[in-house]
Parts: sequence; structure tokens; C-alpha cells
Amino acid sequence: MNVPGPANDEFRKFAQTCDAIKATRSKLEKIKILSEYLASLTDDKDLKIAVTFLSGRVFPPGEIEQEANVGYSTLWNVIADITNSKDVEISAYYRKHGDLGSALEDVIAEKISSSNGGTKQLVHTLFQKTLTLSEVYGHFFQLSKSVGVHSQERKQQMLRGLFSNISLPAEAKYIVKILTNEMRIGLVEGLLEEAIAKAFSKTIADIRMANLIEASPGLVAIQARHGKLHEAKLAPLRPTNFMLADTGDTAELLFEKFKSVPMYSEYKYDGIRSQLHKRDGAVKLFSRNLADVTRFFPELEAGAKKIEADDLIFDGEIIAYSDGKPLSFQLLQRRLRKIIHSDQDAPIKYMIFDLLYFKGDSLLQEPFRKRVELVRSLRLPSDIMGFSEQRLVSSPKEISEMFVESKTLGYEGLVVKDLSSPYTPGRRGGNWVKLKKELDTLDVVVVAAEYGHGKRVGVISDYTFAVKEGQDLKIVGKAYSGLTDAEISDMTEIMKNTTIQDQGYRRTVKPEVVLEVAFDAIQKSDRHDSGFALRFPRIKRIRYDKSIGEIDDMEKVKKIYEAQKVKI
Ligand code: AMP
Repeated sequence: MNVPGPANDEFRKFAQTCDAIKATRSKLEKIKILSEYLASLTDDKDLKIAVTFLSGRVFPPGEIEQEANVGYSTLWNVIADITNSKDVEISAYYRKHGDLGSALEDVIAEKISSSNGGTKQLVHTLFQKTLTLSEVYGHFFQLSKSVGVHSQERKQQMLRGLFSNISLPAEAKYIVKILTNEMRIGLVEGLLEEAIAKAFSKTIADIRMANLIEASPGLVAIQARHGKLHEAKLAPLRPTNFMLADTGDTAELLFEKFKSVPMYSEYKYDGIRSQLHKRDGAVKLFSRNLADVTRFFPELEAGAKKIEADDLIFDGEIIAYSDGKPLSFQLLQRRLRKIIHSDQDAPIKYMIFDLLYFKGDSLLQEPFRKRVELVRSLRLPSDIMGFSEQRLVSSPKEISEMFVESKTLGYEGLVVKDLSSPYTPGRRGGNWVKLKKELDTLDVVVVAAEYGHGKRVGVISDYTFAVKEGQDLKIVGKAYSGLTDAEISDMTEIMKNTTIQDQGYRRTVKPEVVLEVAFDAIQKSDRHDSGFALRFPRIKRIRYDKSIGEIDDMEKVKKIYEAQKVKI
């Protein structure tokens, strides 16, 4: 008898493909396996879902208001329940792999092989009707809709339902990996783009360009299949990638980076970068990682609805602001965690500095000068929105003076911009250069935490943190100063909820919380697995707006180390 393989739209096939990609180190082989799989997905909907999952996201950017929001502790409980396992068993597998999805695969496989009957019929016999990609996506969608009281219980129930339909342990693994943003199958976005190009016989340059604008590889894959890459374009209510700035160390060095004089110089605001989209009266705000953050700032949404103009995309920065002055960045971060709801406690202002789209036209290719003229001709309805402070400058002296002014007023420095430059999504080019004049900081992720001493007994106030190196995390230091009591109390709660292993005084936690740390120097050290340690590290702030994908890497650590005049 011929054993039929899984149909292309089955989630089983997706899981097997991911395993095959992970199993080979050859880039060419990875691209080959993936492109064949993508080409085999004849339904556009399936193609979009598979590519979205492969890009490490649960949903295509901008299409869903709330993320699925399934925490480690929820998954852990479900896994313990459906596999009838004790915490220590799951912990052992977790430590072996470092991700919960792979741990679950092993737990299930072990339970099956020991056939102790405790798996509550977890894995169906083969050839039964199996889960499809769209069914998995549908479950994820339902998870995202489950909010409010008892939502965690409901989510656990939905997850149990989802897991009861798998036919291979690897499917359970990838469900968890997708939900926890831990795909880690050795597939960076570049390779995914190459596979899409190969699957549909397009050039990698065309795919990349479309993806920079659309910021949604799933959508780009469909366009590629139908020969419609040229239709990749901006559209209000769908996020695009943000243009990034280069660094200038001094006013003189910054000035030399520009080809033509004068330039526009603007205050650098210390807040949350955000696109504001408006179409047919609807408003959406997207943060740097393309998450929909509209619900956190209802007063800005309401204010933007009052703008006469419609069909537009602004680029700007949301800052904490009151009585003509910037307030602490921490207040704003606490609004992202919904700790502060009230616009009274943490009032904001949206500082607009660019216009990417207006009334049916993309302005990406227009020179900055023209975009500025257009955006500043619009009337803003209330104090909740304003334009960034902007001036023409033509010498290092003028830049220095404006820099001091910006710092004196409580802003972060300057961003200087070329008048003739286009807006290049996702690129860090020489057309925008920032001047901060401070010791470098590192964005790191917390991987372990300890209880404090003295007045900090009972709260988790010591954080061990890491930077990335390829797919790995390398520890570079430990810090306990810089946070307020309120922030430490928030962190204590988060650390407890993301604990992977509790050793009493110390907890290994899921790498999730991003910190920005300042330090006096970087030294070589065998204390940590990175081979480096930060000297006198202090936490500048918690970055709830950043995710683990955006932390700094070992390259940057080494670069700062090399640049130090005195090596320690
Ligand atoms: P950094 O985060 O240090 O790499 O600096 C770049 C960031 O500065 C941008 O991503 C924006 O969030 C922020 N920023 C603040 N003010 C401006 C401005 N006037 N123009 C451009 N970016 C700005």
C-alpha cells in the first residue's frame, strides 16, 4: 500500500519542512527546501500564513490589533497538563534546548515511547484528518481575541483543543515556537526572501525592495507568485519599515557626512517612534517593530481623527510631554504595559517629522524638502500633535548651538537630515545623522534575575543580561541600579511570570525584557560566556517598546571595546 504524504496545506508538512531546514547548515539547501515548499502551496492564503510563520511572526504586521499574547507560564501549564508531566521533567528538556517548543516535542515523544498512556490521546494516529495551516492560524486568531477576565483560562482551553489535533510531535513544537517568537530554525529574513525569489522566479532585489515597503513577507510572496511585485506600495493602515539614522560623534564629523548645505536639523525626541496612519476616518499607530499600539494612546487616536486631511501616513515620535516640556521616558513605557492608563498621569504629544503618503500618493521618492513643505502646511487640530522643531543649518557651529539648546530643554540631541533625500524604509543611510554625544549604551535582554538585599529584600532587583551573537545570547553583565521602586516592582512581577527555572535566590527567565544599559567601559573578562564584562553598568531604562530581535550584538560590544582609548 502506498502511504500518502501530508497534503501541502497541512500543518504537518509545514513542521516537517521547518525541521528539514533546521537540519541542514547549507544555505543553498535551506533555500531549495523552502522554495519548493512555498511553490507547492497553491492557495494564496496558505502561502501567506506559512511565510508569516516562517518570518517569526504569528500574524502579518498591521493586520491584527492584539497579539496572541500567550505567555510562557500559560504554555507551561498546558504542556504539564496535556502531557501529564511534572515541572522538573519539562525543566530538564527546557534546559537541554533553551526553547519551550523543542522541550514539548521531546516530552511528547518520550511519553509516546514509554506509552504510559498519560498523554491524553495527544498524538492522533496517522492518516486521520490533520490540522491545516489555516486552522492553526484560526486558533491563533481566537487566542488574540481572548482578552479580559479569565482570558488566561480560556486561552489554556483553546490551546488544549489545538494540541489535541496534532498528528506529529513536531507540530506541537512549532505551534509553541511560533507563539513564543522562537522559530530559530536558522532562517534569517534574507534567506526567506531568497526562497520566495527562487520559488516564483523573481530577482532577490525585487523581493527585498517590495518587502522593505510592504513589511509583510507573506503579502510579498503572493505578489511575487502573481507577477505583481511592482504593485508593492504604501497604503494607510498598513505599516511600513522605518527609515533609520546614522551616528555622528561630533558636530564636525556629522557635518562632513553631508554632501550639500544647508541641512535640516531637528531636536531628537526621546520617546516611541511611531507611524500614524489615517484613512476613511480610521486611525492606527504602529511602533518600530510594526506592532499596532493604537490602543495604548486613545487620546492621540481621537486627536488624529479630527485632522481635516485624510488618507495619510505620518512618521514621528510619541513623547511624554506636559506644559511645554518633555517628561520622563519611563512614564511612556509604563503606558505600553498598561500600568498607567490615564493621560493625566502620563500625558503625551506626537511630534511629527515626516509625511510618507498623502491622498493616494506615496511620497517616498520625493525629496525631504518637499515632504516637509507638505506636512507643515497641514493644520493640526489640538495640542496632542505638533511638528518637530526644525531649522536650516549650514555649519558645525550652528549644529553645536542647536545641540546645546536641545539638551538644555531636556531633549536627546539632534537628527540632521539631507534636504534632497528620499525616504528609505528600513535603511540606515547617511541621509539622516543623529548627534547624541554620550557614552554609548547597549540594548540587552534580561536572561536571569536575583532577589535584592537590604531595602530591596523581597523584590527581584538584580538583572543578568545578554547581547546576541547569531542565534545565541551571550551574557555581558549584571546590573542593579537605575530603576525606580515602581519599576522594580513591575520587573519583579514580570520576572516571576517568565521564570523558566527557579533556583530560590535566582531565576533563569525567558529572554524577553529589553534594557538599555549605560556603562563606563567594556573589559575583557572570563566571568561571562561572552568573554567581556561591562564596567559599572547601570540601567538607563526598560525598553518595553523593543523586542529581543532588536537588541545589540557582540559586534557592537567588540567595536566599543576596540574604540576605547584605554583597554582594560
Ligand atoms: P536611536 O534610537 O538612538 O538609533 O536614534 C534614532 C531614533 O531617534 C529614531 O528611530 C527616532 O525614534 C528618534 N528620533 C527622535 N527625534 C527624531 C527626529 N526629529 N527625526 C528622526 N528621528 C528622531
